[in-house]
Amino acid sequence: MMRYSALSLLGNAFSKNKNWKPAWRNPDPKPNYDVIIIGGGGHGLATAYYLSKVFGVRNVAVLEKGYLGSGNIGRNTTIIRSNYLLEGNNPFYEFSMKLWEGLEQDFNFNAMVSQRGVINLFHSDAQRDAYTRRGNAMRLHGVDAELLNRDQLREKLPFLDYENARFPIMGGLMQARGGTVRHDAVAWGFARGADQNGVDIIQNCEVTGIDRDGDQITGVQTTRGAITCNKLAMAVAGSSSHVAKMVDMRLPIESHALQAFVSEGLKPFIDTVVTFGAGHFYVSQSDKGGLVFGGDIEGYNSYAQRGNLACVEHVAEAGMAMIPALSRVRILRSWGGIMDMSMDGSPIMDRTHLANLYFNGGWCYGGFKATPASGYCFAHLLATDTPHETATAFRMDRFARGYLLDEKGVGAQANLH
Ligand SMILES: Cc1cc2nc3c(=O)[nH]c(=O)nc-3n(C[C@H](O)[C@H](O)[C@H](O)COP(=O)(O)OP(=O)(O)OC[C@H]3O[C@@H](n4cnc5c(N)ncnc54)[C@H](O)[C@@H]3O)c2cc1C
Repeated sequence: MMRYSALSLLGNAFSKNKNWKPAWRNPDPKPNYDVIIIGGGGHGLATAYYLSKVFGVRNVAVLEKGYLGSGNIGRNTTIIRSNYLLEGNNPFYEFSMKLWEGLEQDFNFNAMVSQRGVINLFHSDAQRDAYTRRGNAMRLHGVDAELLNRDQLREKLPFLDYENARFPIMGGLMQARGGTVRHDAVAWGFARGADQNGVDIIQNCEVTGIDRDGDQITGVQTTRGAITCNKLAMAVAGSSSHVAKMVDMRLPIESHALQAFVSEGLKPFIDTVVTFGAGHFYVSQSDKGGLVFGGDIEGYNSYAQRGNLACVEHVAEAGMAMIPALSRVRILRSWGGIMDMSMDGSPIMDRTHLANLYFNGGWCYGGFKATPASGYCFAHLLATDTPHETATAFRMDRFARGYLLDEKGVGAQANLH
């Protein structure tokens, strides 16, 4: 397989770019695999990559019902960060951040990892105290965090509405190592890396049924025929409840649509990621100049990859309360993805009631930043049957036992996370 480098770029330029090879194969499914991963999103592909690379399990297939990148991995707003408060979450997201920092060298693909910083604005004394606590918790875990006062913020982001009558901006919590990554390049990079290690990535192959013999999974039925396996892994994000129903599994997960927006191209003016603290709005600027922004999930359950106008209005209002100049910017495109909202806002990565079925989901709208660590830890679980040390809190039974991992402290309500 071709290795990407400055030299290969030069060589191919001289041969009129006629010798580039496909980044991954397009194989037909084999009759049997050691591990089948349902879902060729970021998490499924990353799992296959680490399973084959770190744990040496290579007889693996990733089954994707559409094309790679058709799910949330190619629909998110590309933000990565590890500014978590709770013990169960923070080490995992920091592990993910460390994997992002070396990812492009590791899988030899330009994913445009850009550590441009993430700033969460605060608008009241109480919110400042909460962010101070979060920042301290981060620093105790060895994660970078800096509390910026209004003057420091003004220097960085002069265009914010500091004197807004309802939501004056008092300062912000910054994680300088946070930032953005080109989302679909992440899918492509993991796919290419996994393929190089022998993993079969099978697109346009929907899993329509799961075969079992008592509490053992024996294989799957797909639109490309039946395939048997020794272990079955689910990483289908917004379709989690739907696929789990095939084995009569009810999950503490609801699916909601989340929209994202991109504006016309503008000259560079936001060189970081900024999130509003008095409503749900966050924005960054893409390398092409478009402002990429988003807000809250739709309030109702849905499997549609599109949202509604009420959320568009909410996002526009929150955006303008934060950056009044946005009123003159034209929106070019908007789209939606299906979020697997867990009841406490934290993910689930665990074995299930069936002996060789493993579950990965409940990422809510924060699963993109988790992609490398999710893949690594899920691969660890699949290969060793024990959770990775940073993912021990993501157990399924925490909901039954009452040990919620409630990062936002808003209780067991999917639409509040
Ligand atoms: C608008 C939006 C903005 C977001 N912004 C951010 C952000 O800035 N930062 C962040 O960290 N997170 C963000 N997220 C969340 C993040 O994108 C998701 O949590 C994460 O991508 C989910 O994991 P995934 O990549 O594996 O999902 P997906 O890419 O959705 O992968 C799941 C795959 O499973 C496939 N599948 C489903 N059913 C079947 C079946 N029966 N058979 C075969 N295949 C099947 C689907 O086709 C899909 O490709 C955002 C999400 C959206 C929609």
